[in-house]
Amino acid sequence: MNYEIVIGLETHVELNTKSKIFCSCGGHSEAKEPNDCVCPACSGMPGMLPVMNKRVVELAVTAGLMLNCEISRYTTFDKKNYYYPDLPCAYQITQLNHPICTNGVVQVKTSAGTRDIRIKQIHMEEDAGKLVHSGRFSYVDFNRTSVPLIEIVTQPDFRSAEEVVVYLTKLKSMFRSGGISECEEGAMRCDVNISVRPQGSEEFGVRTEIKNMASFEAIEKAINYESQRHMDALEYETEELVQETRRFDDASGKTFAMRNKETEADYRYFPDANLMPIIIDDEWLEQIKANKPVAIDDKAVEYREAGISEKEIDMLLSDFKLGKLLDDIVALGCNAKDGATWILTDYAGVLRKDGKTVEEHNIAPEKLAAIIKMVASGEINRGAGKKILIAVVESEVDPVAYCNEQGFNKKFDASTVEKVIDEVINSNAQAVASFKSGKEKAFQALFGACMKELKGSGEPALIKSLLEEKLK
Ligand code: ADP
Ligand code: MG
Ligand code: ZN
Repeated sequence: MNYEIVIGLETHVELNTKSKIFCSCGGHSEAKEPNDCVCPACSGMPGMLPVMNKRVVELAVTAGLMLNCEISRYTTFDKKNYYYPDLPCAYQITQLNHPICTNGVVQVKTSAGTRDIRIKQIHMEEDAGKLVHSGRFSYVDFNRTSVPLIEIVTQPDFRSAEEVVVYLTKLKSMFRSGGISECEEGAMRCDVNISVRPQGSEEFGVRTEIKNMASFEAIEKAINYESQRHMDALEYETEELVQETRRFDDASGKTFAMRNKETEADYRYFPDANLMPIIIDDEWLEQIKANKPVAIDDKAVEYREAGISEKEIDMLLSDFKLGKLLDDIVALGCNAKDGATWILTDYAGVLRKDGKTVEEHNIAPEKLAAIIKMVASGEINRGAGKKILIAVVESEVDPVAYCNEQGFNKKFDASTVEKVIDEVINSNAQAVASFKSGKEKAFQALFGACMKELKGSGEPALIKSLLEEKLK
């Protein structure tokens, strides 16, 4: 039988704020020692009360706007009770009854086409601490407790691992460009809910939840393994599927049962009376909207209007740094379509030769823009521009100074060009002869020799026509 895979995601994203969600401790990612960033509030001392960080609300709303959600004007916090040593209050402050954002939608584009993934909700919550196990002892590090998170919950709308990875890549790119989260390793974690059903069936199958995966690669592998396990169970009755929580083991590429799935009742949720409801009025919402960066889908429209091809748009949007570089050089006066080619073909090509990615190399937008503008204005030709680009990447030279130094922009008048061509013809008798006997390649060799003499700064069209004339 043919089966369809059904997936829903719960994605936790650490927010890029200066301080924790309910106290003024900050900078946990720069903490040098365990428990460097801890105060009586976030270590759960009796009597300490939470105080809401306003910035968390603004970032959560911004994320909601980017994912086309409805923004709740009235939002509240709840206590989720469970005991684990990395949770000092024995409850997590989260949102159950009135989450900050609901009913969004994100488009994902894969080889199978474009599909809508519905966002059920986004809620704000605090992170837990970390346990460090060493020999017979276990230690608790509270640096991460009360670090602000948003959790983005989708409807069970994904139908393949590919869609999941495209969605996560898009989220990451959006959140980085929007200043919501850096999404570095570990700052974006996913729970994957998965079930399978016979193709065409309306009913969902039994679902399992694979907890807490941080790499896209692991997520993809886990989905492939787990969906196959479900299909085998249905097809060959190898085992009975039960709703449960599983963990993915990277080494074996398999998932293992952890525990039976908790239900909502297990957590004894109740409203957190220590925190006032948050009211988002029109004025505040407008302010957040005004500061919101252009969303990725709007960007696609903008790029398309600038004449950039679909393939290039995909590349620019899949890596936030590339899109940012293009936006920067356009702001500096470059043409968008031209700039896209320079970034994706020339710049990326130079980096690839050095075994580098754009992620690792940060060209100053001013430098790239200076090169592109010299070429666009006809001051130098494209070949010379590329040479300057290589020098900028390799040794951080100043493009304009380097160009002057190398004489790329020296204008050769027609008589100088003619003289050079004459010299080339005289000293390359063999190539001239083979051109005359009909070998097209010889023309390229002669042309190349002229360009070299002129240090790549002559006007190719002029040289070509003069050379042709003289040879004839
Ligand atoms: P719970 O409260 O048990 O966590 P939710 O309704 O919040 O359940 O769903 C959690 C996640 O599981 C959501 O992302 C949802 O899309 C997904 N999900 C629900 N049912 C299924 C299913 N049958 N197959 C795959 N994913 C599912
Ligand atoms: Mg859930
Ligand atoms: Zn604190």
